[in-house]
Amino acid sequence: MPARGGGTTSPRILLRRLREVMAGAGSAQQRLDTIVRIIAANMVAEVCSVYLLRAGEVLELFATEGLKPGAVHVTRMQVGEGLVGTIAASAQPLNLPDAQSHPAFAYRPETGEEIYQSLLGVPVLRGGKVIGVLVVQNRTRRRYTEEEVESLETVAMVLAELVIGSNLVDPREIARVDGNATLPLRIEGRALSEGLALGSAVLHEPRFEVKKAIAEDIGEEKRRLEAAVLALRASIDRLLAEPDPAIAGESRDVLEAYKMFAHDTGWFAKMHLAVESGLTAEAAVQKVQIETRHRMQQITDPYLRERLVDLEDLANRLYLQLLGKSAHVDRESMPPDAILFARALGPADLLDYHRAGLQGLVLEEGSPTAHVAIVARALQIPVIGRCEGAIAAVEPGDYVVVNGDDGVVYIRPGEDVLRAVRQNVQLRAERQAKYAQLRRQPAVTRCGERIALHINAGLTIDLPQLDETGADGIGLFRTELQFMVRPTLPRVGVQTDYYSRVLDVAGERPVIFRTLDIGGDKALPYLGSNDEENPAMGWRAIRIGLDRPSLLRAQLRALLLAAGGRRLMVMFPMIAEVAEYQKARELLELERQRLTGQGKAVPREVRIGTMLEVPSLAWQFPALLPLVDFISVGSNDLSQYFFAADRGNPLTADRYDLLSPALLSFLRWVARQCEDAGVPISVCGEMAGRPLEAMALIGLGFRNLSMAASAIGPVKEMVLSLDVPALVAYLNRLLVAPDHSLRGRLLNFAKDHGVVI
Ligand code: PEP
Ligand code: MG
Repeated sequence: MPARGGGTTSPRILLRRLREVMAGAGSAQQRLDTIVRIIAANMVAEVCSVYLLRAGEVLELFATEGLKPGAVHVTRMQVGEGLVGTIAASAQPLNLPDAQSHPAFAYRPETGEEIYQSLLGVPVLRGGKVIGVLVVQNRTRRRYTEEEVESLETVAMVLAELVIGSNLVDPREIARVDGNATLPLRIEGRALSEGLALGSAVLHEPRFEVKKAIAEDIGEEKRRLEAAVLALRASIDRLLAEPDPAIAGESRDVLEAYKMFAHDTGWFAKMHLAVESGLTAEAAVQKVQIETRHRMQQITDPYLRERLVDLEDLANRLYLQLLGKSAHVDRESMPPDAILFARALGPADLLDYHRAGLQGLVLEEGSPTAHVAIVARALQIPVIGRCEGAIAAVEPGDYVVVNGDDGVVYIRPGEDVLRAVRQNVQLRAERQAKYAQLRRQPAVTRCGERIALHINAGLTIDLPQLDETGADGIGLFRTELQFMVRPTLPRVGVQTDYYSRVLDVAGERPVIFRTLDIGGDKALPYLGSNDEENPAMGWRAIRIGLDRPSLLRAQLRALLLAAGGRRLMVMFPMIAEVAEYQKARELLELERQRLTGQGKAVPREVRIGTMLEVPSLAWQFPALLPLVDFISVGSNDLSQYFFAADRGNPLTADRYDLLSPALLSFLRWVARQCEDAGVPISVCGEMAGRPLEAMALIGLGFRNLSMAASAIGPVKEMVLSLDVPALVAYLNRLLVAPDHSLRGRLLNFAKDHGVVI
């Protein structure tokens, strides 16, 4: 037996022979037996064996040339067990000159393999999943060449076609491979947008399957590949030429990377070579993709890894191009209860899916400040991010539950989970119907106090909520959101149109525009990031606005123009001292004078206020209050600075309760100071939207609350059932208590007094 192997027959001839066998007579088993013989001869190996995956994660020896024939259908091992099991578990090839010294080697006496020293095994893949393992072995100690590894991988692709095309393994077993694809699964991620959704899984990027690996006409395959590559390049160039690729769901960086790879002749040449060796264009794309994956596993540099992920995405697009399908799921044919699974998603794509009826979203990446999360919250689509492994674990059409409140996704949930979820859905629906009925009813307490309820907004899609919730106005318009969903700084004209539209929709209802609150965790791609040690206390919001006055002035100009002839309300974020507020106000005044000088229409009334987010500002109230038209408490930031506890850090975010006597008594003092000075005050942080917290705020003297649109119903219900004097008397006694939190006592008050929380 020759000790060296490899390349005695050209890959093209080998593939042709395999095709003849596969198309020839005989049972699938007989053809498989012939195939292992041909491969062994071609690779000059003494052994060639095929193991196929069966239900229960078991790999079974299905055919062999060289091992004892009696071992066929007898030798079985678990995924992860022995060398073959290791290859299946990792979906990676193993190339071992001395297989028996490998720690995973498991001796199986019935095979008689102890005389073979070297081993090369590759996974047999179908649609990215392992369905078997193909192995060659030699007596002598040797490392197989790179070409031999590639050649065996190509053969494994052909083999996958035979396994799927014949009934070697029951197709139901194949559908079940890759772990427990039929078992319920619970994956914890990060809750990015609250709510509950049930429905059928849809993959944003459909998995592709190579149906035919061996080319019938190599010339034709070459032409198909070339045409697909050209079309792919053109489609990427087209996307890059769009003025606003972020709106198409792509970041310019990713597109530039796509472009680089799509024009990379090396990438194309590899696929070309694979077609030359006798593969179809689809199989060639897959082969190069598998190689890319191998390289990816070895790379530790996160930036390069990311680029290789891009390359994998590009291969998917190319494959779909070959099939003449669109790169993403066809929105028209989406099931009405679709739950989308994606690695990442752009905000515009989400809007598109929303129009097609999307119910929920599961992302493998994503963060709460990702644009997609902000938009999803506005659309009330539950989203779970950082759900590692979710895409591989789900099959299209699987029943899925997304619990955006807890950050958990249930794939193929069991009856117990479903029962609890259905109950929850029913309760939610009943509650929503009740809130809709309250829409026209003013928020007046049992004792006759009118509480103003406003919504927080930031995107055009928020605007219909004004009518839908019956809110009194927009208490916080986060202007930065519009800046964040764009790849470049919006020009004054674009900003003006946008703010004007907001005012048109609001009509007589007040809108408080907050100037750009960026920095910290809200990054703008075009402003560059400076890695700050402590971003929450860093260069953000008004600090950026005052240091880069042209940015702030442009925005103020747009606001003044948009409100020409109307009333404009503007507030500044993160003001820490009166001098900052005065500087910001001066910029507004400068812009107003400039526009008047140009004969432009300016607002008939301008009201200027500040957020109270930094405690130091409260210590300057005597100087501040005469200068402001209103104040809004940003309790999200105020509490993190008040307690010195990062709101984004899970170890500290919940450490101190907003309902602590310390914060509540501080807020009562703030409310009283403002009342005495005749300055309207509101609360626009998240606490205003939680019924119990909102109740406490009313007890402290606040009569104006601004919250997420979805909170208006629950808070209004609480207001309608509240008796303020009883609460004030109770709360005043408690504020001197040394307790960590008054939450329990306030809950008891609500229960005893029939307040709906
Ligand atoms: C706040 O800090 O409470 C607030 C409303 O601002 P944001 O959450 O946008 O920082
Ligand atoms: Mg804030």
